[in-house]
Amino acid sequence: MADASSDVPEHCPGTESEDAGKVSACQGCPNQQICSSGAARAPDPGIALVKARLTPVKHKVLVLSGKGGVGKSTFTSLLARGLAAEDPNRNVAVLDIDICGPSIPRVMGVLGEQVHQSGSGWSPVYVEDNLSVMSVGFLLGSPDDAIIWRGPKKNGMIRQFLSDVDWGDLDYLLVDTPPGTSDEHLSAAQYLQGAGLTGAVVVTTPQEVALLDVRKEIDFCRKVGVRVLGVVENMSSFVCPKCKTQSAIFPANTGGARKMCEDLGVPFLGQCPLDPRLARSCDEGKSMVADHPDSPVAAALKNILQGLVDACENKPVQSNGC
Ligand code: ADP
Repeated sequence: MADASSDVPEHCPGTESEDAGKVSACQGCPNQQICSSGAARAPDPGIALVKARLTPVKHKVLVLSGKGGVGKSTFTSLLARGLAAEDPNRNVAVLDIDICGPSIPRVMGVLGEQVHQSGSGWSPVYVEDNLSVMSVGFLLGSPDDAIIWRGPKKNGMIRQFLSDVDWGDLDYLLVDTPPGTSDEHLSAAQYLQGAGLTGAVVVTTPQEVALLDVRKEIDFCRKVGVRVLGVVENMSSFVCPKCKTQSAIFPANTGGARKMCEDLGVPFLGQCPLDPRLARSCDEGKSMVADHPDSPVAAALKNILQGLVDACENKPVQSNGC
């Protein structure tokens, strides 16, 4: 697959920088002249390309988390599988731009798949007839390949993913992002806003150390004008499969995500319990909800999905528990 971002020099200052074309890293770059002339600081043509590609996609949703390991990719997969399973006429796709830790191919059961190029762009990998996946993980020889990428190269990759994938008609595009607020988020938000970004789902766990970072994530959304569709609290409790005793592995000492949402005035979509079967399903690339439709995770997801669909359709969101 052609990769435009591989042309970017290792220490490129970025086409929008005042230093563009003028620093030592620019020596020998084919774009040096255009950058030093200032022409590259014109509006990014990628915005129009992404808009052309994604305007037909009805709902574009970023999935964010403050920290890694809270279940963002797990939830992206649960939401995508759930949206697709609820209605066979609803077309759903996942785009994984977690460049340093793309886990979507594994959790969606398409690890090792190849991406093919057609006349109308890159073809995503289909998990179901109405559920497709594109991941930076399909392109990396090893996950370590991208760890040292600098901003402009990441930006180029994200632009290419957003503008070059032939999704067909989509109702929902869920974009799995890296944890935190970094270059990738700014790039994705900027490009998607140009094409009409519906908003963001934020995933957290209940303890204060995770919520601290989620508050920053919500602040980031406000600063860049991304609507928070709602917050999901994952791993809220654990029910022992043998004795059925419920325990809080990550205690919500400050009231958890629900209280934080009340304080910040953003919708709370619901809680999902910790369930070892979910971790196993993700490792095996299977659908936990299809395999265990009566599980507490399946019940929680049903409420959360309803909240997400309502938020996307601009209907009032009920705050759900489980
Ligand atoms: P992130 O994308 O936030 O880094 P992941 O989705 O990769 O996090 O999840 C981290 C680990 O936690 C994975 O092994 C995943 O299977 C597991 N996990 C996530 N949510 C749950 C849950 N509700 N119950 C059990 N395991 C979970």
